[in-house]
Order: sequence, then structure tokens, then C-alpha cells
Amino acid sequence: MTRIIAVANQKGGVGKTTTSVNLAASLAHQKKRVLLIDLDPQGNATMGAGVDKNQQEHTIFDLLVEDLSIVQVRVRAPSGFDVIGANSDLTGTDVHLLQVKKREYRLRDALKNVMDEYDYILIDCPPALNLLTLNGLVAAQSVLIPMQCEYYALEGLASLLDTIQRIRSALNPKLEIDGLLRTMFDPRNSLSNDVSRHLLQHFPGKVYRTLIPRNVRLAEAPSHGQPILLYDKHSRGSVAYLALAGELMRRHEAPKQTVKKTEKAV
Ligand code: ATP
Ligand code: MG
Repeated sequence: MTRIIAVANQKGGVGKTTTSVNLAASLAHQKKRVLLIDLDPQGNATMGAGVDKNQQEHTIFDLLVEDLSIVQVRVRAPSGFDVIGANSDLTGTDVHLLQVKKREYRLRDALKNVMDEYDYILIDCPPALNLLTLNGLVAAQSVLIPMQCEYYALEGLASLLDTIQRIRSALNPKLEIDGLLRTMFDPRNSLSNDVSRHLLQHFPGKVYRTLIPRNVRLAEAPSHGQPILLYDKHSRGSVAYLALAGELMRRHEAPKQTVKKTEKAV
């Protein structure tokens, strides 16, 4: 069964793209068939996956607005997964989509034809609650929410959860919270620990066990166009994202009963 996960948080710079790219590479390393979709005009996931955003014949824009199919817009990344890239062409998508029928369902409908080809489809959303993010959340079965454990992290969470609830009632009733991911975690920082404790207390069963540490190698890797697994396989960041891939696989590929027990709706 294909699992479609949107990586979303309207707050900027919390590790959405770092997580999308490195989780895609880690799942591919575990022999999973993975498609990474970049929904952000910044094109950082595209570049981070080793695909030059400025050399693409087609991007996600052509799929959402011009009706091209997944097969026409996807490319293969060097580390063994498929990518649908993005670049600044995507900036005006909201305006273009205003003319289009069923504009929130564009991505979901396009994915229907390739579901059998992938085990995991990861969608890197932009730091905004716009039509692009909406397409991601309508196409997804669940949302992975990266959170930096800092003072303002919790502020945006309430509005994101509210948005998810609205999408559930209006557009995608099956949308679940996949989990909250603590990113850039620094155990020496007491605030990191406080926020982490708060998350575990208020969202029991919904916080991934895996913690992503603050690790400079993770920040360096994108400038080399490489996921951390290629850039520095033995770094703490690489080990953490491999662990996250393992946690996700156990969660989604475990027998149904176990999954039901651990997954409480938020
Ligand atoms: P945006 O909202 O702009 O799309 P984002 O949520 O996708 O941002 P990233 O681009 O993944 O966030 O990360 C923001 C910055 O933090 C980047 O420079 C990235 O390299 C760095 N970064 C992400 N995760 C880590 C980490 N665990 N350790 C150190 N640096 C990190
Ligand atoms: Mg990003």
C-alpha cells in the first residue's frame, strides 16, 4: 500500500525540506520505492535531492496548471528516488489555479495513476497555507509536522491543527496527523527539553520517538546537492534520518491491529 505523507508546517525554517529530502533518501536506502514532490517555489527539496531546479524541462507547475502527467514531469535523483521538481515558475500558481476546476484536487487526481509504483510519496510543502499546501494536504493520507523545539514553535501548531481539521471536514476526511517531529534538537538547551516535554504531554502517541539533532553536516549537505546519506553517512544527522525511516516503516507496514492501537486521532 502506498503511503502519501505531506511534510507541512506554515512556520518557516523548521526543517520541512531537510526532512523531506533525507527521509526520501533513507527510505530509498531501505529499498523502498519513493517519490518526492517539491511544492515550494524555493525549489530547495529539488536542489537538495541533487536535481538542478533551473535545468528542468518540466516541474510540478506543469502538472498542476498545464495538465501534464506524473510520468511527464518526474525525474530520477542520484540517490535512488524519483523527484517532481519545483522552481520559481511555481510562484504564481495560486493565481493560475483560480481558473481551474477542482483546483484543490489537482495533485490528488494526478497521483492516482502512479500509486502502484511507489511505497512512499513525500510532499514538501511551502511555509504558507496557500493553494499549493492545500493540494499537498488534500493529496496526502497523513501529515508529518516538523517542529523546532523553541519558544515560538507551539504558537503556529494550533493554527496548523485547526487547518488540518478544516481540510478533514471539507476536502479530505481521511487526513491524519502522521506525527510531530522534533528537529534541530539540542539536549543541552533547557528550552528544547521543555518544549519537547510539552509536546509529549499534549500529543501522546503522536510525537515520533526519533529526535533529529542539530547537526551542521545536515545544513552543509544541500549546498553539495546531496542527501546526508551521500554527504556524510556516519554523521548524527544521517543516523537520525535512517532511524526516522525505520520508525515510519514500522508504523505503516506493521500488521493493521498494531497500527490501530498506537494511532490515536489528535
Ligand atoms: P522553509 O519554511 O523555508 O521551507 P524548511 O522548514 O523547509 O524551511 P529547512 O530548509 O529544512 O526548513 O531548514 C532550515 C535551515 O535549517 C536550513 O539552512 C537547513 O540546512 C537547516 N537545518 C535543518 N535541519 C537541521 C538540523 N537538524 N541541524 C542543523 N541545521 C538544520
Ligand atoms: Mg522548505
